Amino acid sequence: EAKKTGRGEQRMFTEDMNAVARDGLVIDGALRGAIEANEFSLVYQAITNAQTGKLTKVEALLRWNSSLLGPVPPDRFIPVAEDSGMIIELGTWVLDQACRQVGLWKQSALDDVTISINVSSWQLADPGFVTLVSQALIRNGLSPHQLELELTERVLIEDTLNVQTVLAQLRALGVGISLDDFGTGYSSLSYLTQFHLNTLKIDRAFVMDIEHSERSNNLVHAIIAMGHSLGLQLVAEGVETAGQATILEQMGCHYLQGYHIARPIAPDELLRFADSRAAALAQTPAQPDFVI
Ligand code: C2E
Ligand code: MG
Ligand code: MG
Ligand code: MG
Repeated sequence: EAKKTGRGEQRMFTEDMNAVARDGLVIDGALRGAIEANEFSLVYQAITNAQTGKLTKVEALLRWNSSLLGPVPPDRFIPVAEDSGMIIELGTWVLDQACRQVGLWKQSALDDVTISINVSSWQLADPGFVTLVSQALIRNGLSPHQLELELTERVLIEDTLNVQTVLAQLRALGVGISLDDFGTGYSSLSYLTQFHLNTLKIDRAFVMDIEHSERSNNLVHAIIAMGHSLGLQLVAEGVETAGQATILEQMGCHYLQGYHIARPIAPDELLRFADSRAAALAQTPAQPDFVI
């Protein structure tokens, strides 16, 4: 590719790379001390049962409001934190904070919710990780089935043997393992049986076009069929329209996540969402099994 481009384009590419590197350095500097300075918070996005509409799971998403840089999106600072190794400390903070929040939701409309946390490969490779997880559960009074860890396909190819062992230990604890952004990465179907997964999250890129592209529609259909035959739960990510939700439900997708249901929001706001969702479901008359 690079050979084919002219001199000018090549220089621009280099300048771009320099900008990215410079950006990374600035972010790296600003990240230091950011936990102590209380610059991080978690927002929570609802995941509902596609058939009943019940709020069943919640994904915790990290937010950073830097005193130096302002709000920085996770797609920009997570890779930097991974490069410096800071992701270990940051990931531990996320795990603690999210489990504490679920502990606080006891005896509310979010009483039995499952919390999903994004975990990077560095954390899984950390020898103390399984202990860290079980301690966070115990400390906050969570039952293990209330926690689900989201991994990307990259994690699975990076250190196969160790990852398999760690995932087996987590599953033995009772914690769920979910494969995030499914279909975008280094998909090898053998991973789906080789690793101890219980949930597949179908990436937004496929869900986005499901109403208008036959190809995306067929692809999502195939992923769902495959998930069913492997005994996996399916979550569709990035559901933005009622039309997408209907198609996904009809295809047998178990759970829906996306702006059509709710944006990622602060804990208080999520609790209000859960209250109104529960009230709405209680009012809906039970569906008859058949109509005469
Ligand atoms: P992800 O885990 O795939 O999270 C879903 C992303 O899609 C979130 O972006 C969410 O805000 C966004 N999203 C949800 N519904 C919709 C929708 O209907 N339409 C559109 N356009 N977007 C939607 P966010 O919060 O910016 O996070 C980006 C990524 O950063 C996450 O992707 C995850 O890979 C990573 N991340 C976030 N929090 C953490 C964390 O605590 N630890 C680690 N290691 N990674 C994290
Ligand atoms: Mg995720
Ligand atoms: Mg995802
Ligand atoms: Mg993603």
